[in-house]
Amino acid sequence: MSKLSPMMERYMEVKGQNPGTILLFRMGDFYELFYEDAQNAAKVLGLTLTSRDKASDNPTPMAGFPYHQLDAYLQKLIRAGFRAAICDQVEDPKKAKGLVRREVTRVVTPGTLTDDELLDPRQSNFLACVAPAKSSIGLAWLELSTGRFLLTELEPSQLQDELARINPAECLIPESAAKDDKLQMRRTEQQSLVLTMRPDWCFGRDEARRLLNEHFGTKTLEGFDIDDSPAVTAAGALLDYVRETQRTALPHIVRIEAWRRSRHMIIDEATRRSLELAQTLRDGRRDFTLLGVMDETCTPMGSRLLAEWLSSPLTDIEQITQRQDAVEELVNQLTLRDDVRELLKETYDLQRLTSRIATGRCSPRDLVCLARTLGQLPRLRAKLAERKSKRLQTLEQRIELCPEAHAAIVAAVVDEPPLTIADGGVIRPGFNSDLDEFRDLMRGGRQWMAAYQQKEIERTGIPNLKIGFNKVFGYYLEVTASHSAKVPDEYIRKQTLKNQERYITPELKEYEEKVLRAEDRAKLLEQELFATLREQVATFVPLLLRTADSMAEIDVLAALSTLAANAGYCRPMLTTEPIVDIRDGRHPVLDRLLPGGQFVPNDVRLGLKSADDDRQAIGRVQIITGPNMAGKSTYIRQAALITIMAQMGSFVPAKEALIGIADRVFARVGASDELARGQSTFMVEMTETARILNSATARSLVILDEIGRGTSTYDGISLAWAITEHLHDEIQCRTMFATHYHELTDLTTTLKHAANWNVAVQESNDDVVFLHRIVEGAAGRSYGIHVAKIAGVPRRVTERATTILATLEDEHITADGRPKVPQRETTRQRRQQKSLFEFPEDPLLQEIRKLEVDSLSPIQALQELYRLRQQLTDRK
Ligand code: ADP
Repeated sequence: MSKLSPMMERYMEVKGQNPGTILLFRMGDFYELFYEDAQNAAKVLGLTLTSRDKASDNPTPMAGFPYHQLDAYLQKLIRAGFRAAICDQVEDPKKAKGLVRREVTRVVTPGTLTDDELLDPRQSNFLACVAPAKSSIGLAWLELSTGRFLLTELEPSQLQDELARINPAECLIPESAAKDDKLQMRRTEQQSLVLTMRPDWCFGRDEARRLLNEHFGTKTLEGFDIDDSPAVTAAGALLDYVRETQRTALPHIVRIEAWRRSRHMIIDEATRRSLELAQTLRDGRRDFTLLGVMDETCTPMGSRLLAEWLSSPLTDIEQITQRQDAVEELVNQLTLRDDVRELLKETYDLQRLTSRIATGRCSPRDLVCLARTLGQLPRLRAKLAERKSKRLQTLEQRIELCPEAHAAIVAAVVDEPPLTIADGGVIRPGFNSDLDEFRDLMRGGRQWMAAYQQKEIERTGIPNLKIGFNKVFGYYLEVTASHSAKVPDEYIRKQTLKNQERYITPELKEYEEKVLRAEDRAKLLEQELFATLREQVATFVPLLLRTADSMAEIDVLAALSTLAANAGYCRPMLTTEPIVDIRDGRHPVLDRLLPGGQFVPNDVRLGLKSADDDRQAIGRVQIITGPNMAGKSTYIRQAALITIMAQMGSFVPAKEALIGIADRVFARVGASDELARGQSTFMVEMTETARILNSATARSLVILDEIGRGTSTYDGISLAWAITEHLHDEIQCRTMFATHYHELTDLTTTLKHAANWNVAVQESNDDVVFLHRIVEGAAGRSYGIHVAKIAGVPRRVTERATTILATLEDEHITADGRPKVPQRETTRQRRQQKSLFEFPEDPLLQEIRKLEVDSLSPIQALQELYRLRQQLTDRK
């Protein structure tokens, strides 16, 4: 192999130090990629693949892009699931002796993004780390863009649900665990999770503790209320990775929080999906989900926090009440609410701004955005002063005005700075006298040039003589070829172009020297001043973070109150009793989607025991029967959604509501609704049902929709029956079971706490109207054919179905569970039919009926038989 150039040697060295990444290697004004990286990136980024050393036997594949397009290309690489190492020139090429020094300045991975361009403002971007131990699993997760760092210890079976809740962009796992698939980290369609293998030695418990203590400047982690569990190992391995990729201090990670599962309602992955909490089942969109409807926040921080509240509602009544009190106070004070929201709209994403300041990656604009945000805080605090609710009081006190940081930025930075400090013009005139002087020189230089140009035009009589600049030989005088005869002798020719000649003069060079030096020094000084300012502001990081968290929560509370006021919600009462009593409840999403007043409200009453007139003993297990499309799913989901909203601290879409705190909510949709996901549906349905039966407690709320539909009728009914019995007798939890199997209504005869409800239907002549009203009692009959009709199934099919139904209703089903289907009619017969609803007898039958068998001789009988058979043959 031919010898590599020194630069390619450096490339290979850096590449070797950063395995598993695409290396972006800065060369002049370009980032270049080589070998496989170039080939991969050419596809993903749409770059042209060229090669270096074309003449050699072994040319090197190569691709590149201009340095200022880094953000756009990074975004594409990360979206495609790659990790990118950015290798920059870390010394001034002008001053470098020999090869310019190049180092990796950071590694960008899906889970460690901090740049605004690469992040969705409304979505948290977590990096998670899983550390399996003997009988449990340590899990840690960090949002680098805000500094939020949490950890917990789990049973292996809980991992999948926790990951679904956190929804990290990237997850670290030890190599060995990945190999034997111990963790069974299956990918789901919605999660575009990138798994990153880390060497096993990164998962040492002592090393983890040392790293964490070193980072937080502590001797023990007890202050964070963290015990010595595998969770610490996970947190250590995570921090190690972040340090390795970021290569900067991380002063915005100021604490680590232990996540206590018991303080939150647990909602597993399938339930999140079934209830469409943050993504629709069909196309994964956010708009028509509970989160989409509830998101009235006006800052990205609020939007992210609301999503977190929704994914992990509370179980502690005291805590929920505090949120409710705050929401209520804001509901009752329209102007206060509007004012607070208007102020918040004028602020920027303080969490992400702060983290960029902390990691030294903030732009001049970031600082201006910070100053504008800080500028709103005094008014925000003033608005929130003297609030009655405890939570608002606390949040008000947590807002740190940081006037010094505000003043420092305003004094130093211009109002509309350029994007990067390298562009110059960031520092305000009058802030630093040296800088002003350099700028005067630069300005003076420009004036001098203008005057010099004028003077030379007059002196030489060349009217279009002009001064230009290029990087190669600086300032020059340009003369068109037609005037070249008039050029004075002292002009020194530098370049001849097609139509122009370029000259320099000693005078011009002398001035150029001065101007360029001033420009250089101004640039350097600006960079220094900016760095000092950034460091000064960085000392406020912990205060800024606290303020940001407070603003996020104020935003969420104001959003919940706006929603409550606009959509006519009520404040739910809470109890530890396992009951639900919702009066005139509405489905929060459908209620907003349907035109005003079209949604039919319904009561939900579960497990009520009190004997007062209004609330009679009502079953804890509800069996809801009714035709398809009548509103069963809507009704049971509404109960689950209202419970979740109530435990978030939100008001709920109902006239009144009393909600018994649920430790978990389970929801399963039946097989056919999941068909779109292309799984073996019945197996999935049963696996998920098994999980409910194994993990529900008496304090859970279980919503089952058409369970057992994925198998034959008898199997389905039997399973549904047994499942309901188990939930009723063994687990004794609140259960709502929607089914179109009428047979299940008989369950209430044996189950003490079960009750039948059904969807009211109005029948008139041939037509049926679904009232969407849920009433007590079992449903009468099914209206499937009616639904098929309104869904646009061809008339011939629905009519044929009506025929079959008539037979089935007579004879039901065969012993093996299949419908006894009457023979198909022929086309001719169908044509002969007078009315499609009557069933005229076959003419052959009529003839047979007319035969007077007793008066026929055997021969005649035989002839008749032949004749009839001939008629039959003719038909075909
Ligand atoms: P089922 O589960 O009984 O098949 P769904 O709950 O899916 O029925 O409801 C079918 C459709 O009926 C919904 O898409 C909705 O448009 C409408 N619907 C359901 N409940 C109501 C209601 N309470 N008020 C108004 N429309 C409703």
